[in-house]
Amino acid sequence: MSEESHLKIFVSVDMEGISGIVDWGQTGFKEPSEYERGRNLMVGDVNAAIEGILNVSKAEIVVSDGHGFMRNLKAEELHEAATLVIGSPKPLTQMAGINTGFHAALFIGYHSKMGTRDGILNHTISGRTIDSVTINGNEVGETGINAAIAGYHGVPLIFVSGDLAVTKEAESLISNLHTVSVKEAITRKAAKCLNPKRARELIKIGVSEALKKRKLIKPYTFKAPIEVVIKYANSLMADAVEFMPLAERVNGRTIKFVLDDYLKAFGALRASIYIARAVAD
Ligand SMILES: [Zn+2]
Repeated sequence: MSEESHLKIFVSVDMEGISGIVDWGQTGFKEPSEYERGRNLMVGDVNAAIEGILNVSKAEIVVSDGHGFMRNLKAEELHEAATLVIGSPKPLTQMAGINTGFHAALFIGYHSKMGTRDGILNHTISGRTIDSVTINGNEVGETGINAAIAGYHGVPLIFVSGDLAVTKEAESLISNLHTVSVKEAITRKAAKCLNPKRARELIKIGVSEALKKRKLIKPYTFKAPIEVVIKYANSLMADAVEFMPLAERVNGRTIKFVLDDYLKAFGALRASIYIARAVAD
């Protein structure tokens, strides 16, 4: 059997970059009927990606629900070819389920980093907590942070779907990856959207193309030592995070960690967000 016939593909799914979604009312419990619509749109984009994979390979597919409390995808509605990682909290959060056995990673429904002009619902992990995350001198969003978790395991990120801003962000990090823009933001909470049927068709085709060319893409990694500089929304958050071992205070709102391993650095970032949220004003 050739390698192509038994690929293992990891799919991380967020919600803000799903086709048709422009507001947090569609991604959480505040507006139940809109959230229900958002969940249906979400599984539509994911199932299109799975069909795109299956057009190329009878792959083993793991889908990781990576939005909010991470129980947005309904197992019974997901394409039966995939297994589903849901629930939180858990290590690696949006990337839970990845390991060194995978051949490629895909990100579906992703959004741009905090502060991106014309980035729909832009934020970095926690909009109320984090202003910016800079790793080894590069400011990154969830795409870069999570691509490096895949890269740590030797897995290349080969495909990203979301709004135009996140596709540009991904292309600036990784050469030769495929992207599909399903909407173009007008402001942080308004966008011109493709019809979801059209978006799904483009995702399906794009994922197939990306898989065929996956060997052109190198895993995305940061070299140790890993320096993570985190700017929080206010100085009280930094006051609390400063209690963490190895935390260095840079200024009023900024803390730095230097660690010898990327997953440890990611763990420090996530733990600091739990601490910062606990004292949020
Ligand atoms: Zn999200």
